[in-house]
Amino acid sequence: MIEILLFFLLIKINSAKAELKGYKKNRFIPFTVILIVVGELLGALIGILAVKGIVIYIYALIGAAIGGLVSYLITSNLKVRPGMIDYDKLNIKKCPVCNHENDITMFTRCENCNADLTPYYDI
Ligand SMILES: [Zn+2]
Repeated sequence: MIEILLFFLLIKINSAKAELKGYKKNRFIPFTVILIVVGELLGALIGILAVKGIVIYIYALIGAAIGGLVSYLITSNLKVRPGMIDYDKLNIKKCPVCNHENDITMFTRCENCNADLTPYYDI
């Protein structure tokens, strides 16, 4: 039964991620469902060919999980549409000296040329 909860959770996560990036979130409900169902069917098919009995169900579940993972990865890698905040790049700061992109979550000096990035904070 827990897979059904995870299924709905993933639909919520994918549509929320897509909405944050500027996409219509309702499109990501069928998108997620189709990938999970296709994964489950492929898993079941492989299970029918490879094993017998209840173990086929395990294959179907693994297939569904792979389908779900693929939907999550695709949604995570969607381009942020113009005008939307890119939350993945909120802590990325371009060095004014060498243009190297630094993650300033932990360090405030440029990884490449060691320039101090603190005065250039604009968040
Ligand atoms: Zn630099």
